[in-house]
Amino acid sequence: MINRERLTKTFCDLVSIDSPSGEEDKVRDFIEEKLSAMQFQINIDNYGNLIATTNESSNNNIILSAHMDTVEPGRGIIPVVDKDTIYSKEDTILGGDCKAGLTGILEALDSLHESNHELKNLTLIFTREEEVALLGARHLDFSQILGEKAIIFDGEGPPSIITNSSPTYVSFDIEITGRAAHAGVEPEKGISAIKIATTLINKLPQGRLDDETTFNIGKIEGGSVRNAVPANLYIEGEFRTSSIETMDNLNQTLSIAVEETQNEFEESKINLKSEILFEKYSLDNENSALKIVVQSLDNLGLSPTLKGSGGGTDGNIFLKNSIESVVIGMGVKGMHTINETVSIPDLIDCASLCENIIQQNT
Ligand SMILES: [Zn+2]
Repeated sequence: MINRERLTKTFCDLVSIDSPSGEEDKVRDFIEEKLSAMQFQINIDNYGNLIATTNESSNNNIILSAHMDTVEPGRGIIPVVDKDTIYSKEDTILGGDCKAGLTGILEALDSLHESNHELKNLTLIFTREEEVALLGARHLDFSQILGEKAIIFDGEGPPSIITNSSPTYVSFDIEITGRAAHAGVEPEKGISAIKIATTLINKLPQGRLDDETTFNIGKIEGGSVRNAVPANLYIEGEFRTSSIETMDNLNQTLSIAVEETQNEFEESKINLKSEILFEKYSLDNENSALKIVVQSLDNLGLSPTLKGSGGGTDGNIFLKNSIESVVIGMGVKGMHTINETVSIPDLIDCASLCENIIQQNT
């Protein structure tokens, strides 16, 4: 039986362990200890992802997955349980993304283990650095993974919310080199990297561009001191779209903006690097992982809500590696903010759903 007290404790224990991206060791140890007691074979891959399989396994294994890292500010999190809601006491995120997902899976396993259900045909994948453009999943050796259907616990809202589409994500970095000069003595000898950046940024779109496209300049770093013409500046940006045509157009917009700005500031140097970090998907109703989730939701008396997402998850990478994948809600709201909360009833549903999926399919 799903146990509310145990589940709440597991969640609070997990969020109390700091695990910002790149520092997942302690949380991985916590999971490993729990799984070892259930006779999983555990493998930590070269990148530090945790992959666990049951003794009886085949390529028909069901894959359950969540990520181990959290975003900042996520250190020293103190969870507060207030009736049906959990929030963080101080000005940090709660870490429900993705510790609620981890909790849902672990509670389902605890419950089944307790009732002597034989765990078999299961693969668990707990990734590192999902929040850094899915780095952990991108480093997974998929040839070693048993299973072709994955349920990923990493969505916002209750577990009945299923993510059925996600955009392509392009990141770009622009490095601008101007020329330094004393701002008061000989400013005409300088070329301001900040002025170049403003010219360039004014040529670029920002925000939501259409139903399926967003564009953002997220970070600028430049200049050295108040009284010098700034010589160097770095820009980090991204865009996301579900349309290949829009992606091509935006890549072109970016290149033209750089070229035009370069022509206006001939003696400067502008370096543009862009990269597709993950690719779009949209699930059709025949997706076998989706069918599994819909059936188990139905068994629990819940009906699915299909929803597109503007974000990426490990699902983007799993799908690209021929694993039928579906991403479901884990009871979290306000992900990536200090107002993040977890609903205990939704988290219980998440664990119950996970338990039902295991019971019905393994
Ligand atoms: Zn997440």
